[in-house]
Amino acid sequence: MKVLLVGSGGREHALAWALAKSPLLTRLYCAPGNAGIAQQAECVAIPATDFDGLVRFAVETGIDFAVIAADPQLVGGLWDRFEAAGIRASGPSQAAAVLEGSKGFVKDLCAEAGIPTAAYRRFTAPDPAKAYADSLGHPVVIKADGLAAGKGVIIAGNKTEADKAIDFMFEGGFGESGHAIVVEEFMEGEEASFFALSDGTNVVPLAGAQDHKRVGDGDTGPNTGGMGAYSPAPVLPPALEQVAMEQFIKPTVAAMAARGMPYMGILYLGLMITRSGPKLVEYNCRFGDPECQVLMPRLKSDLLAALRAARDGKLAPLEWHDDVALTVVMASQGYPGSYAKGHVITGLDEAAAMPGITIFHAGTERRGGDILAVGGRVLDVTATGRDVAQAQARAYAAVARIHWKGAFCRSDIGWRALARQDG
Ligand code: AMP
Repeated sequence: MKVLLVGSGGREHALAWALAKSPLLTRLYCAPGNAGIAQQAECVAIPATDFDGLVRFAVETGIDFAVIAADPQLVGGLWDRFEAAGIRASGPSQAAAVLEGSKGFVKDLCAEAGIPTAAYRRFTAPDPAKAYADSLGHPVVIKADGLAAGKGVIIAGNKTEADKAIDFMFEGGFGESGHAIVVEEFMEGEEASFFALSDGTNVVPLAGAQDHKRVGDGDTGPNTGGMGAYSPAPVLPPALEQVAMEQFIKPTVAAMAARGMPYMGILYLGLMITRSGPKLVEYNCRFGDPECQVLMPRLKSDLLAALRAARDGKLAPLEWHDDVALTVVMASQGYPGSYAKGHVITGLDEAAAMPGITIFHAGTERRGGDILAVGGRVLDVTATGRDVAQAQARAYAAVARIHWKGAFCRSDIGWRALARQDG
């Protein structure tokens, strides 16, 4: 199979790495890719936003299967564009990507299907939203309904903050995505992610993972795309994974099929493990980044065969390694704010040769013989090990070999898992 992967980050590198191992693969292309992905794929300079260009390339090159890694493409309808041109692709369709594209839709689906989640109401005007927020007490959570590049959620600590957040959204602070909002109850607990793969009717579990959203050690500082992750997540033992499948994933896939918009592809379940059990925080219609970077090293089965089976309605259970995988994101000073670009990275080959290490590139570019740091998140230094402690020690030993001007990372990736194990 000739495969086209769409995207350019660390998640896409992990997918390219896993796809490249498939015996079904004859040739792998990635648009636009990065310097790391170029080790596994032929990178083609088409931006992931250029749907016309991607479809044209796929048709002209005779692509057999397209893998779409990110939500803006899926919610924007790239799956539908490929399929209309006769190119099979990993979903979901634009209609089914509503699970990520509209928070209000998901909350209504939860209410109908009896899926545990925070109390909520949807609003299209500020005054009733403020009154409902008051009635919930504080903190209270205010969410823009649509996609807002991961920024559409404000946790308001008091009435002033809640009113301000509601006004901000209705005044277009998050663009169109804030013209409808969800106000919901604050859930207290530990967050974890669980991933499943669906063919529209059948669904198989993938694995659980936990990421680290804040930029600083001890979960301090501003939110980021994610500074590290590990899988499996001890907070989601097998019994809870089963709950995730039976009480969340399966009823959701069934409800989507019943609505005539079958959900095909990766389903990312964001959970809050509260005192009264797991509750849904959100759905995403793709792998997490950096969670994908710890799922792929644990996947024993053929990723390409699995994604293709999900597209063709022939899904079968997948096999996993028992090893733990842990990834440390190395970023450029200033991230998640502005950061310098273009510094030369050293030590990559030496680090990659260490036991259990795979390095996924997130924001890199090749210039001559050099690899340059060109993103906020630059590298995902990923290790496997028999437990979190070993994977963590291996990852940080590799991180210590890698340098560029202004490089930084969190030094405590895995702390929740280790605390749970120790205590
Ligand atoms: P979302 O985009 O819905 O995933 O929200 C982003 C982040 O906001 C989540 O990962 C949570 O950390 C937090 N969050 C969202 N909803 C709630 C809630 N109801 N209670 C507590 N935290 C929440």
